[in-house]
Amino acid sequence: MPNEYIKDFPILQKPMNGKSLVYLDNGATTQKPLSVIQAVDDYYTTFNANPHRGAYDLSVKATEIYEGARETVQKFIGAANSYEVIFTKNATESLNLLAYSYGMNFIESGDEIVISIAEHHSNLVPWQQVAKAKGATLKYIYLDSVGRITQQEIDAKITDKTKIVAVTQVSNVLGIINPIADIVKKAHSVGAIVIVDGAQSVPHFKVDVQALDIDFLVFSGHKMLSPMGIGVLYGKEALLDKMPPFLCGGDMIDYVWEQETTFAPLPAKFEAGTQNVGGAAGLAAAIEYIGKIGFDKIEAIEADLIQYAIPKLKALPYITLYGSDDLSVKTGVIAFNVADIHPHDVSTILDADGVAIRAGHHCAHPLMQYLGVNATCRASLYFYNTREDVDKLIDSLSRVRGVLG
Ligand code: PLP
Repeated sequence: MPNEYIKDFPILQKPMNGKSLVYLDNGATTQKPLSVIQAVDDYYTTFNANPHRGAYDLSVKATEIYEGARETVQKFIGAANSYEVIFTKNATESLNLLAYSYGMNFIESGDEIVISIAEHHSNLVPWQQVAKAKGATLKYIYLDSVGRITQQEIDAKITDKTKIVAVTQVSNVLGIINPIADIVKKAHSVGAIVIVDGAQSVPHFKVDVQALDIDFLVFSGHKMLSPMGIGVLYGKEALLDKMPPFLCGGDMIDYVWEQETTFAPLPAKFEAGTQNVGGAAGLAAAIEYIGKIGFDKIEAIEADLIQYAIPKLKALPYITLYGSDDLSVKTGVIAFNVADIHPHDVSTILDADGVAIRAGHHCAHPLMQYLGVNATCRASLYFYNTREDVDKLIDSLSRVRGVLG
C-alpha cells in the first residue's frame, strides 16, 4: 500500500548503505517532515531574537512564535491554561524537574512513591534519588505475563502512604498501553498525585490531560516529528504554583535584591535562561502536521502494520515476541529476540539491509531483569512506515540466522 506521507520526509528519500532506508526506530526518535524543518529554518532566517526581553519588533515576533507554540501545545493536550505548559529540553528534564521541585519538597520519610517496573530510566532513577534523600519507599507495580498492569496490582501497590504515582502511558520496550484512568482513580482516592510519562503515547494517540485528570504529563518533541532539544511538562496550576523553581537565573524572576528573590509567575518560573524558541516553533509545526493527518488515521496505520507484522514474525520459529499483541492495549512497538543471537548482532545484520531497529536494554534495566533477558530487539513503527517496510524487516530477519546461526 503506498504511503502518502513519505514524500514529506526528506531523510526517507535518501539511501542508507546503498539501500532505501527502512526506519523502524521511531521509539528512539522520529524523522522530521519538511514543514517542521522549514518552521525551524524560518525562525532562524527571519525571526530570530531573544523573546520576552526586547521591546523591538523582532523580539516581539520571537515572543509571539514562542508563546504561540505554547498555546498550540495547550490545545493539543487539552490543558485548561497555556501557562500550565512548561517548555523543557525533553521528557527527561521534565521528570527531573518534577523529582527535584515536587519530590524533594513534598515527600517525607515514610511516604511511598509508586512507579511501574516498565519505566524508562528517566522515570525511575530520579525517583530513586528522591526516595533515598527523603527516606521514602520506592514501590513497583509489576506486570502480568503479557506485560499489562492489572487492577489487582494497582490496588495492591497504591495505598494510604502513596504520595506520588509516576507511570509511563506506553512502555518504550513492549509498546503496551497502561490503564492510566484506573491508576488516576486509585491514586486520587488516596490523595496521591499522578505523573504520566507520555514520551511514547503523545506521538501516537490523543492524550487529553483534563479528560484523564492527570496531574502532570511529560513528553519529548523529538519523538513526535519535532527537533531534538524541546520537551514539555504539563502541570495543574495549583501544583505548579506551590512548587519552587528547579533552575534559577534570568527570566524566571520577578525581582532580585542582594539577599532575596521573588519569582515570576507561571510558566516563566520554570523557564530559566534563554529557551529553545526554534525548537518550540518546530514543535508547533509538528503538532500542526499531526493534526492534518489526525490520530484516527495514525492509529489505523499503526494497527494495520502490527496486524500485518505479528503473524509473519510468529511464523519464524526462532523469534520470541514479548508482550501482548492485543491491539486494544498495544501501539506500534514490536519487542523480540532471535534465538541464540545477540540483539546487537541482529541489528547490525539488519542495518546492512538498510533496516534500522533498536537493540539493547532500552534504558529499562529493571524491566529487562523482570523479563529475564539482558536485551531485546525493538522495531517501532510510525505512520510513515509501510507493509513493504515490514516485509523488508521479515526478509532481513530470515537471513540473520543464515549469517550467524
Ligand atoms: N520515557 C520514555 C517512555 C521513553 O521512551 C524515553 C526515551 O526513549 C524517555 C522517557 C526519555 O526521553 P528523552 O530522552 O527524550 O528525554
